[in-house]
Amino acid sequence: MKIDLHVHSKERSACGRASEEEQIRAAMAAGLDAIVFTDHHRLAPLERLAELNDRYAPFRIFGGIEINTNGEDVLVLGLHDAALESSKWAYADLHAFVREHGGFIILAHPFRYHPQVTIEVERFVPDAIEVHSINTSLKAEDRIREIASRLGIPVLCNSDAHSTDALGTHYNVLERTLSDEQEIMALLRLGRFTCHHHR
Ligand SMILES: [Zn+2]
Ligand SMILES: [Zn+2]
Repeated sequence: MKIDLHVHSKERSACGRASEEEQIRAAMAAGLDAIVFTDHHRLAPLERLAELNDRYAPFRIFGGIEINTNGEDVLVLGLHDAALESSKWAYADLHAFVREHGGFIILAHPFRYHPQVTIEVERFVPDAIEVHSINTSLKAEDRIREIASRLGIPVLCNSDAHSTDALGTHYNVLERTLSDEQEIMALLRLGRFTCHHHR
């Protein structure tokens, strides 16, 4: 199952250049099986996700969120609580909230904004780190892999697509095809996937 866990839409991201359905169709055309919408500080309504999943089945569309916190962007998957949409999260509080509610937290494109990671990943360990994305320099790969291995967490390849041409450039191949987001998170936690990028 090929899945990209970091995709934007112009419905909810001011910087998004393609609509939800344009992104879905581009992902399908690129051979992906699923995407997660992670718009900036905005969750996709569950009714909208259900509608899109009906329309594009067996392709799967999940809802997550991208949150700017203490100088980094993190992705949260598996939670649909409007409290996440706040722009004032401190990373320690966000990490506690995600842990308490059984979500999945990913450090997105480390070293994009700063020469060091600005959140306390040692104290509040995320579930995974993006090693490749459109917004991650290839020069950062060794440093990112070093952090991931030190923390004992897996690395992911996600596009961070804001337009259709980015779909299919980065994805993760899960061992099994799953349609339940809890099962997907469990597989990701176990590291039972491989990470691919073509850019
Ligand atoms: Zn953006
Ligand atoms: Zn993003």
